[in-house]
Amino acid sequence: MPDSLSESPGPDGGPAQRGEPYDLAVVGAGPAGLAGAVTAAELGLRVALLDLSDRIGGQFYRQPAPALRAAHPERLHHDWNAFADLRERLEASDVSHLSGHHVWTVERGGGDAEWTVHAVTGADGGEERPVRVRARAVLLATGAYERQLPFPRWTLPGVVGAGGAQAMLKGGLVLPGKRVVVAGSGPLLLAAASSLAEAGAEVPAVIEASGYLGYARHPRALAANPHKLAEAVTHGAVLLRHRVALRTRSAVTEVHGAERVEAVTVARLDGQWRPVPGTGRRIACDALAVGHGLVPGIELATTLGCATRPTPDGALALALDARQETSVRGLWAAGEPGGIGGAQLACTEGELAARAIAARLGRNPGPGGRVRQLKSRRTRLRAFAEAMAATHAPGPGWADWLPDDTEVCRCEEVTAGRIREAVQDYGARDARTVKLLTRAGMGWCQGRTCGTAVSCLAGGAEPPSERRPFATPVPLGVLAGLSPEPPPDGTDP
Ligand SMILES: Cc1cc2nc3c(=O)[nH]c(=O)nc-3n(C[C@H](O)[C@H](O)[C@H](O)COP(=O)(O)OP(=O)(O)OC[C@H]3O[C@@H](n4cnc5c(N)ncnc54)[C@H](O)[C@@H]3O)c2cc1C
Repeated sequence: MPDSLSESPGPDGGPAQRGEPYDLAVVGAGPAGLAGAVTAAELGLRVALLDLSDRIGGQFYRQPAPALRAAHPERLHHDWNAFADLRERLEASDVSHLSGHHVWTVERGGGDAEWTVHAVTGADGGEERPVRVRARAVLLATGAYERQLPFPRWTLPGVVGAGGAQAMLKGGLVLPGKRVVVAGSGPLLLAAASSLAEAGAEVPAVIEASGYLGYARHPRALAANPHKLAEAVTHGAVLLRHRVALRTRSAVTEVHGAERVEAVTVARLDGQWRPVPGTGRRIACDALAVGHGLVPGIELATTLGCATRPTPDGALALALDARQETSVRGLWAAGEPGGIGGAQLACTEGELAARAIAARLGRNPGPGGRVRQLKSRRTRLRAFAEAMAATHAPGPGWADWLPDDTEVCRCEEVTAGRIREAVQDYGARDARTVKLLTRAGMGWCQGRTCGTAVSCLAGGAEPPSERRPFATPVPLGVLAGLSPEPPPDGTDP
């Protein structure tokens, strides 16, 4: 199957001059990528914006499928005006939006371009086709994924991610159940619970494994971000109105049900997140929305050797300089890959990166005052993000709620017992050795779901950054269709 180079519509709507690389390829059309792409285009750069999804918006601004004909999608969102502004600017721009393009790697070089972005289309069941986009600079805005800590029967139908429940509601206008317990750790729980309750679900309880008092250890970050407190108060008011109970220092340690969720057991936790014996209590429900924070999506960058930094919640984020550039020159990042911080921070970083890239490519980055303003906003929001990560960091004792027969890697069906055996009997000391011995993390999700759990059971923290040539599984037929070099004139074969 031949590969193809994307075309970009020129200012007149027709194809731009073929064979010329884009100035900038942006991977990810969430808040960070959108802000980066529209700003760069407004500064005169030729921009390609790739996203695996059919619609722009990413996680925070996830939109319902048009076929659902949602009359008021904005009602499921906070801060919809910011998204409406980005969408309008995108529509008014020359950005080539390549939707349904899953980027599987970024490589250096490609004819006269500094970078080649490799994507595959058709993941939604259409024809799978390789696409190469050549660009002078790349902005990675690939977001994050949910951190899951397993517990007995977490694979039962009716258990969904807390962010997953948000995605079902915003993208599909459906609820995961009628009576939904929301559990795990982090501010996403409050957002998910209030959305579910407002949309008509009964939410008997929000179960938070940490406490909120941890924020008090970061008075400066709190004082600088009063709007975050206001957000929490808004969610709190919704929960109060719907009589949702909030239990801190507690966790769902077991799910019950024959065919699907019928109830959960909630236990008190000690300071290390170990369940306190004798405190388990059942709550009847038909769904559980659970997530223990988010983990930056950094695979495309680490494969290229980008440096990482540990975050206060034990994850790895990209190490970025003051202008959002990674340790690899010409490769920028914005939003969650640099550390979990929410949509406002993502937009700020996207715009900042675009201005820095414009300057690097010899264009006018706009008024210096705007850059200073963006930097100061980033510093303020990032300080809050670090406080949030420290407050909701998983305690080391969570594995105590994990009996040996609990499945940890659901793709390869590897239990906690087999991982413990690999550690105790065969001397495995890290997730990679456990993977080689048990196949844990070798399945379709490539350890995105079980990575934290496997690594903790092996005695480490988050899995170390891996250099993988494929960020997503790619069919052999697609790879076979790639010619070794991009066509010299840059045209589609
Ligand atoms: C499941 C989930 C639900 C969430 N829901 C909420 C919520 O309701 N409220 C809230 O405040 N925060 C939510 N968040 C947090 C959210 O990540 C941020 O607040 C915000 O969306 C971050 O913006 P971003 O641009 O950095 O990333 P995102 O919004 O995540 O955007 C990243 C984009 O990159 C695309 N992408 C990723 N990898 C590739 C690839 N290899 N190839 C092509 N495209 C790629 C994705 O499809 C996505 O559109 C959620 C997070 C997750 C994981």
